[in-house]
Amino acid sequence: MSLSEFNLIERYFSGRGPRRDDVVAGIGDDCALLRVPDGMELAVSIDTLVAGVHFPEDTPPAAIGHKALAVGLSDLAAMGAAPAWATLSLALPGVDEAWLEPFASGLFALAETHGVQLVGGDTVRGPLVITLQLHGHVPAGTALRRGGARAGDRIYVTGTLGDAGLGLAVAQGRSALPADDARYLRGRLDRPEPRCDAGIALRGLASACIDISDGVAADLGHILAASGTGARLELARLPLSPPLRRHGGDEAQAWRLALTAGDDYELCFTVPAAHAAAWERRSAGLACGSTCIGVIEAGEGLRLQRPDGSLLALSHAGYDHFGTAGTAP
Ligand code: ADP
Ligand code: MG
Repeated sequence: MSLSEFNLIERYFSGRGPRRDDVVAGIGDDCALLRVPDGMELAVSIDTLVAGVHFPEDTPPAAIGHKALAVGLSDLAAMGAAPAWATLSLALPGVDEAWLEPFASGLFALAETHGVQLVGGDTVRGPLVITLQLHGHVPAGTALRRGGARAGDRIYVTGTLGDAGLGLAVAQGRSALPADDARYLRGRLDRPEPRCDAGIALRGLASACIDISDGVAADLGHILAASGTGARLELARLPLSPPLRRHGGDEAQAWRLALTAGDDYELCFTVPAAHAAAWERRSAGLACGSTCIGVIEAGEGLRLQRPDGSLLALSHAGYDHFGTAGTAP
């Protein structure tokens, strides 16, 4: 069965998910009309997912819908912005209803969790490419930026690191694991949970923040570059999930996964020592939790300290789409 573009939008995308008071006009006109609340700044982020590059070709469509929205929400989280609206550009090889329905369901289930309304988009024929633009609100002047870290600030991450990277190895058949652990790791790759609550809780406390999409070593590197500082991480403090501890190889291999594997979608942020106790109290109320993994230092560069005080060297810091030394995407 073939649907016209208009019917496709009607059937799968319009009138679904949360309806927000600040949407004057959503899907159906030439533009969406949106009201930014007084005193708020608009945070905008766009991400494109290409089949075979950003997700394995065999990824279930519901997981693709989830992930397409999750990566944008993770950017909003990293700025301390509250999610509000999304627009969706879809390039589809054809109208495959067995793909579209679970894709839309995965997307709208996460939209519901975070109160995001889909307010418009574009639909074209082409190789499978999904572009999601996210819009969020943050009280003027309170957004979390990359450039505010100072020597002495503590470095934290939410959740656990490296699971999605090991999940990719499982997806590619490079690692055979017991079913429960394989399901957990694959879930961490396919269904990242954006840390929006943590980002909002960090307003007023964090000096810098970023979301981890290319591995914490590379992404913390962006904070260091923007802030003009260096850092020291204590490798023994890296938060590793039990499945990663069981299957991530020896200690050094597990650390490398946690430091350089992509797709974690956790937050990495810095908190001045004076705010650390307040943050630890707020963090206790978050499902994802957070772990202090090191400290910002004067100078340049990232030092990775083993428990015996010696330093670990990395051959590469993280995934780079145009680089030659990256790990698999
Ligand atoms: P136009 O030709 O004016 O750009 P379209 O025919 O592309 O409009 O889209 C009609 C309406 O449907 C618009 O409101 C547009 O934002 C919305 N829309 C199109 N594709 C999508 C999509 N994939 N998801 C959500 N809304 C969509
Ligand atoms: Mg138009």
